[in-house]
Amino acid sequence: MTFDYLIVGQGIAGTVLTFKLMQENKSVCVIDNHHHLSSSKIAAGIVNPITGRKYVKSWMIDDLIPESRETYFALEKLLDIKVIHDANIIRTIPNREAQLNWERIELDDSATKYIVDKPSLGNYNSILKPLFDFGELTKSFRVDMKNLLASFRDYLEKDKRLILEKFDYNKLIFDESLIEYKGIKANNIIFSEGFHATQNPFFNYLPFQPAKGEAIIFTLDNFHADKILRHKQFMVPFGNGEFWSGGGYEWKQLDDTTTIKFKDNWLTQMSDMINSKPTIIEHKAAVRPAVKGRRPLIGNHPRIKNVYIFNGMGTKGASLVPYWAKHLVSHLLRGENISDEVSISRFLSYYE
Ligand SMILES: Cc1cc2nc3c(=O)[nH]c(=O)nc-3n(C[C@H](O)[C@H](O)[C@H](O)COP(=O)(O)OP(=O)(O)OC[C@H]3O[C@@H](n4cnc5c(N)ncnc54)[C@H](O)[C@@H]3O)c2cc1C
Repeated sequence: MTFDYLIVGQGIAGTVLTFKLMQENKSVCVIDNHHHLSSSKIAAGIVNPITGRKYVKSWMIDDLIPESRETYFALEKLLDIKVIHDANIIRTIPNREAQLNWERIELDDSATKYIVDKPSLGNYNSILKPLFDFGELTKSFRVDMKNLLASFRDYLEKDKRLILEKFDYNKLIFDESLIEYKGIKANNIIFSEGFHATQNPFFNYLPFQPAKGEAIIFTLDNFHADKILRHKQFMVPFGNGEFWSGGGYEWKQLDDTTTIKFKDNWLTQMSDMINSKPTIIEHKAAVRPAVKGRRPLIGNHPRIKNVYIFNGMGTKGASLVPYWAKHLVSHLLRGENISDEVSISRFLSYYE
């Protein structure tokens, strides 16, 4: 059998792209080495319409949210699992300068649909130390990427469409119309290996800026909450009284080892923030596939016709992947142009 597509990497990028190609009745085979600490597996999966210290609308968020919801909802139905967890986000406002930025976004007509008129701390009221001020965002949600990836992996395995191994680039043979990898034939190959693309001889010329982050899963005595809190540290309800917290940017030591520095800093900030002592259940680290210019990397290899990349989702894979996977599928199946903002052709001069 010759597959229509061979996809390397089953993080959130490879998973959603595979699903969208299957929805178009394309045959897909996936190769993934299932690193237990990929970026997708440790991420909170938050889709947040207004981000950053200056409270600005996320790039293209008005288009990203509907496509994300539709895609993850279809995956929920296919796999019979819960992927989307709606949750408002409480944004704390630390000082007068930040308050002016918040007032500016409140006055932006295109952002008002994401802002709650009468914000409320809910249960956080009982644990938070005094705040300068706070606001509340709506239409935000969390994507359970870990659960989604595990269920989709089972789905692919049952269908014999998953090969569990580290892809060996030296074993790829290609000609004008066909690619072959260890006896598997396909018309096209799409690479979605997250930050490991820096090892990919076809695309390692692209300006990846991988950024390691760390995540902590914890509980607080007798405390539950429905909303996400974005204060000095995140508190993201993960169910069963557990919370996710994390972030951090390390550009040099690009591995999945956790650091005492991160944990100590986290504990200090948590004690500045709340009156309760967290119990840490898990501490994990992974590397995000971030890119210079902070836009995805999508497109065809400059010289080899049937070799593609779908990567560069940086800090926002949960919201970016569904929209841009749809975009790539429209290109592959219907010849529509890839947007200049995300096309790898913007880095052609790096290749030549
Ligand atoms: C601490 C932290 C918090 C985050 N929080 C959020 C958040 O709240 N919201 C959000 O949207 N994003 C968040 N992110 C970012 C998000 O994780 C990424 O944008 C997204 O997961 C990237 O997905 P990916 O599929 O491109 O890469 P990955 O998740 O890295 O997946 C790549 C896959 O390819 C496989 N692979 C790699 N090389 C090979 C090979 N040679 N052969 C076979 N398989 C291979 C890997 O094992 C892996 O399964 C966070 C990241 C971190 C680190």
